[in-house]
Amino acid sequence: MMVNRLRDSLWVVFLASLMVGAAASQSQSPAPADNKNVEELGLQVQNQNQVQDQSKDQSGDQNQSPPQPGQPPSQPKNGASPAGDSVGATQEPAKPQPTTPGTTSAEPIPPETTISPKQAKELFRSVDEILQFASEDTGLPIKHKVKRRLTKRDEVQTYLEKSMKDDKDAKRLERSSEVLKKFGLLPRNFDLPKFLVAMLREQVAGYYDVKTKTVNLLNWLDVEQQKPVLAHELTHALQDQSFGIEKWMKADDPDDKNDAPSPNDIATDEESSARQAVIEGQAMVVLLDYSLAPTGKTLLEAPQLVDALKQGMLVGTADSPAFRDAPIFLKEELTFPYRFGLDFSAALLQLGGKELAFAGAFKDPPNTTREIMEPQTYLTHEKLTPLRVIDMDKDFKGYDAFDIGAIGEFDVDVLVEQYAGRAEATSMYPAWRGGYYFAGKPKANKTAPIGLLYISRWATQAKAAEFAAVYAKSLAERYQKRQGLAADGKVDPDAPPADSWRTLRERHAWLTDEGVVVIDVRGEEVLISESLDEETTKRAEADFWPPPKASDKTVHGEP
Ligand SMILES: [Zn+2]
Repeated sequence: MMVNRLRDSLWVVFLASLMVGAAASQSQSPAPADNKNVEELGLQVQNQNQVQDQSKDQSGDQNQSPPQPGQPPSQPKNGASPAGDSVGATQEPAKPQPTTPGTTSAEPIPPETTISPKQAKELFRSVDEILQFASEDTGLPIKHKVKRRLTKRDEVQTYLEKSMKDDKDAKRLERSSEVLKKFGLLPRNFDLPKFLVAMLREQVAGYYDVKTKTVNLLNWLDVEQQKPVLAHELTHALQDQSFGIEKWMKADDPDDKNDAPSPNDIATDEESSARQAVIEGQAMVVLLDYSLAPTGKTLLEAPQLVDALKQGMLVGTADSPAFRDAPIFLKEELTFPYRFGLDFSAALLQLGGKELAFAGAFKDPPNTTREIMEPQTYLTHEKLTPLRVIDMDKDFKGYDAFDIGAIGEFDVDVLVEQYAGRAEATSMYPAWRGGYYFAGKPKANKTAPIGLLYISRWATQAKAAEFAAVYAKSLAERYQKRQGLAADGKVDPDAPPADSWRTLRERHAWLTDEGVVVIDVRGEEVLISESLDEETTKRAEADFWPPPKASDKTVHGEP
């Protein structure tokens, strides 16, 4: 959906951030991870969560001392702090406490410790050794040395703010955020750009800048904590050396210079999400393999660790209030390339080894989030008939296009999770067979609510009816008013409540605070119109489902 644009716009930085889970398996760890076995690593992730839960309650003063009262005895030996000078055994300082998500501003941050010159030197030296590891792990060659520099937190923030202001990206972000609000995936007063800066600031654990080809190390993070992150970032450097990340990401986006929303965005939305997942998934594989190396194992032999890591990423940590309090939608979307990309890469690794999993995925990239979420559809080269795209210029002639894009398998997963829960989402997303949306503002009234059209196709008629019911349910959460309308367009006082359906077939309409919502289900296809005028909705329906010719006996709308 629109959100991969959101990731796109910050994409360089995002390469690095959200290493929460990963950093969590390392951070606050009293001893370097290198001498831990798999089980301990797994345990650590769990303990981490407990520590975090506690710190939620007694926030504040515990950033210095790992041992907590009531901590299970399995906590790794606390005394064994790293040998050598203890000057900068940096812990993350207490961050400002959560404020309303999205309204967090750059509050004063307590002064934090920075690593000593000696530690910085060690970190710099480790770059080459870790790059070597990443190259062996991926089979991607080292073509040249990777530039490195030490960065301060404020510099990172400046960098983030600057990349957010990049006009084209900022515009896309603004548009996307409006559409997300219309879908009910973000609260109406949510300040997305502000939230992203706040979150990235707290999440960033190191980053590789594809523009300057430089890996940026952070002067406020402990050296041992940064090493696995380095393994991740240096994987990006290797991907970049062999395939040119920036160019590869934009490969199928000839329209990129053009700001105007276009139907091309439907394909590129999904492609860019899938490619991001390839890039981040591979880097996560290397991060895990690097962390496991001292045990002599690889991630394929440590599935529990992989699960714990993914879970940790989704939850966020006590020292990441902005992320932890984020709307579920953002948590899911922002961590998608890391979590699902990791599983995708691991599946390829299992089946075809390094060549298929790394260089292979770059040469023959997946095109949809479906292929990422269900790697067998990628491996078997599943071909889905593309969903026919209506003539948007003609159908929406009374509207200025505001945003156009795909609603892919992963978007469906998140949408359904939000309105019907995790189990329903899990059963629904594999039935996705295509989807896109058009959002526009009426030319005659710039202050009117955004009009939205969302067309989707499903594996079976039953799944289409099930999805339509979930969508109807969402009306109850998004609009105070949702009066059922009869076929003549008049309010029907006897209409069942919008959220009472288990399956929804044929055409239904409701009157809401923002105009009429139509859900029209025909066979495996669902057309949803929100806040569009009646004429436009009918035009779109007739375009997507052309009326049968006189000779044609097919009747539409059978159950
Ligand atoms: Zn990354």
